[in-house]
Amino acid sequence: MDRTMLIGGEWVAASGEETMAVTNPYDGSSLGTVPKGSREDARKAIDAAREAFDKGPWPRLPPRARGEVFLKAAALLQQRLGEIAELETRNQGKTIKQAADGDLPFSVDNIIFYAGAGRTLEAKSPGEFTGDGTTIFRREPIGVVASVTPWNYPIMMAVWKIAPALIVGNTVVLKPASYTPITTLELGRAFQDAGLPAGALNVITGPGGEVGDELARNPKVDMVGLTGDTVTGKKIMEAASATVKRVQLELGGKAPFVVFEDADLAAAVEGAVAAGFVNGGQDCTAATRLIVHKSIHTKFVQQLLERVRTIRIGDPMSRSTDLGPLVSLVQQKRVLEFVEKGKNEGAKLKIGGTDDKKKHPKGAFVVPTVFDSVAPDMTIAQQEIFGPVLDVLEFSTFDEAIEIANGVVYGLAGSVWTKDVRTAIRAAHALRFGDVWVNDHLPLGSETPHGGIKQSGFGKDLGTDSLYDYTVVKNMYIDLTGLARKGWHYITFGDPG
Ligand code: NAD
Repeated sequence: MDRTMLIGGEWVAASGEETMAVTNPYDGSSLGTVPKGSREDARKAIDAAREAFDKGPWPRLPPRARGEVFLKAAALLQQRLGEIAELETRNQGKTIKQAADGDLPFSVDNIIFYAGAGRTLEAKSPGEFTGDGTTIFRREPIGVVASVTPWNYPIMMAVWKIAPALIVGNTVVLKPASYTPITTLELGRAFQDAGLPAGALNVITGPGGEVGDELARNPKVDMVGLTGDTVTGKKIMEAASATVKRVQLELGGKAPFVVFEDADLAAAVEGAVAAGFVNGGQDCTAATRLIVHKSIHTKFVQQLLERVRTIRIGDPMSRSTDLGPLVSLVQQKRVLEFVEKGKNEGAKLKIGGTDDKKKHPKGAFVVPTVFDSVAPDMTIAQQEIFGPVLDVLEFSTFDEAIEIANGVVYGLAGSVWTKDVRTAIRAAHALRFGDVWVNDHLPLGSETPHGGIKQSGFGKDLGTDSLYDYTVVKNMYIDLTGLARKGWHYITFGDPG
């Protein structure tokens, strides 16, 4: 199927008629094409969003009316949930369990949450702070927001970006990753069918270096948000600096998973498998560094390997598959290169580390992989692999555990595993990460602010905090004296009195 993109309320091809192929990473089969948008197309989408913000109804609607459009969009997605989940699985490679029971229902809930949350925006109460006038604080939308999203959770990451931006009255140009554009286009369709005015949401497909770069540079865009790689975040910040745009960045991660001596071992092992291999390890919060106390290290690794052996690899459309292919053959190659680096640097490969070519000759598979004896400074312990690869590291003291955990450039997410409340709280406070879990790893709700520190970026997705990323406070002063010459004018000219 050859798809079109959404600009100014119309479904259009790229201006140069160019297209990009979309493939299923399970078997390399074709899923049709999407337009290969250019800078010119990006400018058209930006112009449509600009017009919709400056003159259109969306920013001027009361929050309740915007919320009603959101509720309709959520209902339309809910009606098509099974179909869209299948599209996500075919395009991304994630299991149907993940798409249909995780990503899609959560995305619907996120939209429902923001339908209401958009009605709760508050600014400080006004007052007479100078004595001569009343100051009113208004919280206003920023304007045209560009949202650039990754391929790991295509529809969910798009919702996390556009929902808080739109609900407060911004207009949006959304650009999905080129590997996984399909469900993002369906998200655009749901909002359009729900009655979102033309131009309020534009979805444009095309290469990041061209379309994404134009979104970050264009002077008509007021803010650019990215969920993606830290390297891309740096490029976007640089491109956005020429016009001093507001920037919001949700970038890479390398989450620590710290298992103290007294932890419930079975729970920690289950948690490590579930949170380490989630979405094939292509998750910015995935538990990739298992930092385990030396007294339980051998037992932990033994039990971990037993559980890893039970992971069922195969067709992601099957309900009994636990691990599908990675998103692309390029990603498969990248992950296998990290495995080689790990081996060369002296980490012990305990299981996996290979593709699955015999069973799946065309699929982008990497079998579940565990490295033991990983040193904190090894490449595989420092860089984001974004595949089903877990590292086991060892520590002796609390301080050492925290030092290892914090010893990466990233600061997105981490967890601590212990039965002792003091250890839990002390460790959770000491971990320099935006999300910290105790005796679990991953759960987020529509209400929970998610986002990183350090080179994992800044700003929040989810929760009401994200509404502040997409609004600005206007300070408005109204004179109450009615005097031509105000009491303070003598400071500029003349004398008091
Ligand atoms: P990526 O950075 O390669 O691509 C993300 C998006 O940026 C894509 O749409 C891409 O086309 C676009 N892009 C690429 N170059 C660009 C440029 N020069 N200017 C503007 N846009 C450009 O990331 P990815 O490989 O799609 O996704 C994986 C990454 O996303 C990982 O690093 C992961 O940790 C991160 N991620 C972070 C979070 C979070 O919440 N912090 C969530 C999901 C994924």
